Amino acid sequence: MVGLEYLAKYPFTREASGYVAQLNINPVDLITERAYLNTRERGKARVFESLEFGLIQNKSSEHLTELLSYPFARIIVSLVNDRYLIRRYALAEAKRAYGFLINEDTNRLLEIAQRTFGLNVRLVEENLTLPFIFKMYFTDYLNLTENLRAIEWKLINRLLVKGHVLLRKREFARLISENLKRKTERELPLKLDRKLEAHYENIVQEVHRVLIERKPSMEVFLPKKAEIQSSPPCMKSLLGAVQAGENVPHQGRFAITAFLLNIGMKIDEIIQLYSAFPDFDEKKTRYQLEHICGLHGSHIKYAPPSCSTLKTFNLCLDPDELCQRIKHPLTYYKLKLSGTNG
Ligand code: SF4
Repeated sequence: MVGLEYLAKYPFTREASGYVAQLNINPVDLITERAYLNTRERGKARVFESLEFGLIQNKSSEHLTELLSYPFARIIVSLVNDRYLIRRYALAEAKRAYGFLINEDTNRLLEIAQRTFGLNVRLVEENLTLPFIFKMYFTDYLNLTENLRAIEWKLINRLLVKGHVLLRKREFARLISENLKRKTERELPLKLDRKLEAHYENIVQEVHRVLIERKPSMEVFLPKKAEIQSSPPCMKSLLGAVQAGENVPHQGRFAITAFLLNIGMKIDEIIQLYSAFPDFDEKKTRYQLEHICGLHGSHIKYAPPSCSTLKTFNLCLDPDELCQRIKHPLTYYKLKLSGTNG
């Protein structure tokens, strides 16, 4: 049996959603009733802090307020329905959770991983393996770490025992938070009753205003020559992830970089794009870009991968009607630009 403090800390768990469901609160009451004023304030803070800072600060609020502010924030994000906001919000909720998970009791961590995320994970029985506390079956591990770029996550750098990857507590907490980020991105936008839109109109407009203010500053370095809006869905999605400072797998980084270079973006402009990453290294990034441009080594200018290659890396994202008729992202771009896509 868990208390309200726990549910407020981990509002994404099965226990928390079960608790909120049995309260049977009408989402209209959440936005209109005076009793939920603090919930609204905290819920708005969750969304705005995600957007502005990419994280949610842990302010002390009453446990029930904190818990209810989570579904409230998810309703707002769903009604705004913007992929950039969803990614930003998912990332911020994951970082907030990590702050708690890292200090959590071992059994609690295990419980969250198994009950909420259905992870195939167990405690390490062998005493000799300290500081490794958890073990995860390697296929689950590979699936969970596919977007994590740091070298420490590569399977080749991990300790394996009978098909299980051994994990330290800090690493395990990080994987749970990564799982939360992906789950949030998958679940949002929620399917909501259209009637809710009128009740939430003011707050949705407020979020839109901040989004618009932020987006020009993100797009300021997109060159006039490259018509980003004519890019295929996969490239738009990868670009959005890069702009949000998210982990983008190596193949994804290569694909978007080669694509941008091929449609006329300058090396310096792409460097500026990547400068938002915490592990940004200008010298290394410049060298890699020059390599893709053919200025080093084989002197081959690389094109982005074809659609079939992107599909094998699960990077064919949200294909649209035009995608049915092309085999390469650059063909999509050219058809859109020339207006012969109809
Ligand atoms: S079909 Fe090709 S261009 Fe379209 S989203 Fe998939 S990979 Fe991108």
